[in-house]
Amino acid sequence: MAVKQNYDSINQTIQDVCHNVNRNPDDVRVIAVTKYVSNERALEAIEAGITDLGENRSDGFLEKFNAIGNAANWHFIGTLQSRKVKDVIDGVTSIHSLDRQSLAKEIDKRANRTITCFVQVNTSGEASKHGLSPEDVRSFIESLKAYANIEVAGLMTMAPLVDDEAVIRDSFRQLRLLRDDIQQLNLSHAPCHYLSMGMSHDYHIAIEEGATHVRIGSKLVGQD
Ligand SMILES: *Cc1c(COP(=O)(O)O)cnc(C)c1O
Repeated sequence: MAVKQNYDSINQTIQDVCHNVNRNPDDVRVIAVTKYVSNERALEAIEAGITDLGENRSDGFLEKFNAIGNAANWHFIGTLQSRKVKDVIDGVTSIHSLDRQSLAKEIDKRANRTITCFVQVNTSGEASKHGLSPEDVRSFIESLKAYANIEVAGLMTMAPLVDDEAVIRDSFRQLRLLRDDIQQLNLSHAPCHYLSMGMSHDYHIAIEEGATHVRIGSKLVGQD
């Protein structure tokens, strides 16, 4: 399927879901996750009008970035090893996987501008998932004040891999409530407006729960 066709259908779903829950569809940004696909396919996404691309590994990111460059906004969405920060920092628009002090320190050290970061939260309780426990998020974000090059733009989560929609929804809702709590603190380094949540199989639920950034791979650009 052409990316354009997939994108049209996803946009239609976004319109419908937003209409149902009284949200403005312009407040939902689609990040095309290109980790499974070729540079050519990623370029097709740009031609289809997609402005934001996401990669979850530094080598994959570099390969795509070298081919496409600043024709897209680049989102680093996967676990980031501190020693890889220097490789990706100049190309990324946002990092969605900030989950520890050592990573924050390295981002701050390597960046020569403000980096828009999302703090990753483990809302599912699954040990396999990265991210901070919800109860640790506030103090972690407060501590990021020390890093002048980091702006906490929002929170990110991955829902558990289950079929039960209620469980998935609960994970997104937790993230939204946590975001609301952080916003109340009025921290200048952490406006925390955004919610990066929702993938191919659950983005409709995420949008109902307030997602501002959905990360869609297989349903948008495909898996190979
Ligand atoms: C791969 C990936 C996605 C996209 O997954 P799909 O199910 O293919 O839409 C989103 N977020 C992260 C962090 C990913 O690694």
